[in-house]
Parts: sequence; structure tokens; C-alpha cells
Amino acid sequence: MALIVVLLGAPGAGKGTQAQRLSQARSLPHVSTGDLLRDNVKRGTPLGAQAKGFMDKGEYVPDALVLDMLAARVGEPDCRDGYLLDGFPRTEVQARALDQRLAGPARGSADRVLVVNLEVSDESIIRRAAGRLTCKQCARVFHLENAPPKQAGKCDACEGELYQRSDDAAPVVRERLRVYREKTAPLARFYEQRGLLATIDGEQSPDAVFFRLDGLIPRKAG
Ligand SMILES: [Zn+2]
Repeated sequence: MALIVVLLGAPGAGKGTQAQRLSQARSLPHVSTGDLLRDNVKRGTPLGAQAKGFMDKGEYVPDALVLDMLAARVGEPDCRDGYLLDGFPRTEVQARALDQRLAGPARGSADRVLVVNLEVSDESIIRRAAGRLTCKQCARVFHLENAPPKQAGKCDACEGELYQRSDDAAPVVRERLRVYREKTAPLARFYEQRGLLATIDGEQSPDAVFFRLDGLIPRKAG
């Protein structure tokens, strides 16, 4: 049985950090559909060539094609016990497709999905973004509250000028959150109704969040 772990979390909720930690701590391969897509295109696989056709026309790559790539990847031995799925599903339609294809009874397997929702309030995410400073020269990131530079306005590493990226500005963050909530609410409900959704309070420290997250993943028997 493979356990498919899916993390949900608004942009800025700390999902990336937690995913990386979990993947390392529990030896769960981090399977990102975005990376898979790029990799297939780069290697010129038949699926990659099909995907490129859509991308060249400026169209979305169909879910079925993404799932084909995913199925090929998770059929590899390192994913036998489970993996961390990143970038998919993002909508309820995609969740149903995943169910049909990989995790549901249709596949005749006992694979199951565990969805963990990292809940952080919009206010916190906006506040986190507002304090973020990026170096103009080396792109290193600082934070006014959590990781301030030694010298105000200057990068510790290269003394480059620090600035607020336009996508960290409150109105931009707010709009991104609105779009995220709109798409994700039905997705979370879908998994909640199936008893597959766990929620973690993402306002806690990263260590506390990780402790909860790690505790949700069953230990391998033996
Ligand atoms: Zn710098």
C-alpha cells in the first residue's frame, strides 16, 4: 500500500518548507507534477512531446496527461510505500481524477490519500509577506521580524540593496489568497467528506507544525 500525502496550504503558509522536511525525515519521495512535466519535456518522452504541444499553444496540459506522467513516476520502486504529491490535485475535478486513476478502488489497489491542510489566516500571510525583504543582487530573503538583516536595508551576504518584491505587496497577496481559497475550499471539502482530511494550525512555529505533520504519517511496520 502506498500512502499518497498531499499538503494543502495557501501561498505563504509554509507548505514548501514542511514538504521538504517531511520528505527528508520520512524518506518520502517528493513528487512534483510541475517538475515531472518539465522533466518529461526536457527528455523528450512521448508524454513530454504531447505536453509540449499544448504548452507551445499556450494551453494548459490536460489532467489526463499529467496523470499519465504521474502514474509512470510513482510506478518506480522508490514510491512503493508512499510519496509526497506536490502540485496536484489543485481542484475538485483533479481530485476525482486522481481517485479514479491512482488512489481509488478503480485501480484495484489499497493506495490511499492523506490530505493535510496547513491552515494559516489571511492576516498572518499578509503580515509575513509584508515583512519579507529580498536582495536586489543575490535574491537572498530576509524578514523584518523573523530574520532581519544585520544592517537595515542591506544584504548580509553581499551588501546589496533590500527591497519588497511586488508580489509580496498586500493587494497582490490578498488577490492570490482569494483565488486560492476559491479553488481549494471545494477540494478540502471533497477530502473531508471522505474522512481523508487533517488540518494543522499553521500559525504555530515551523517546528510545532512539523511535529504535528510527522505524527500524522504512520510509521512503517517492522
Ligand atoms: Zn545579497
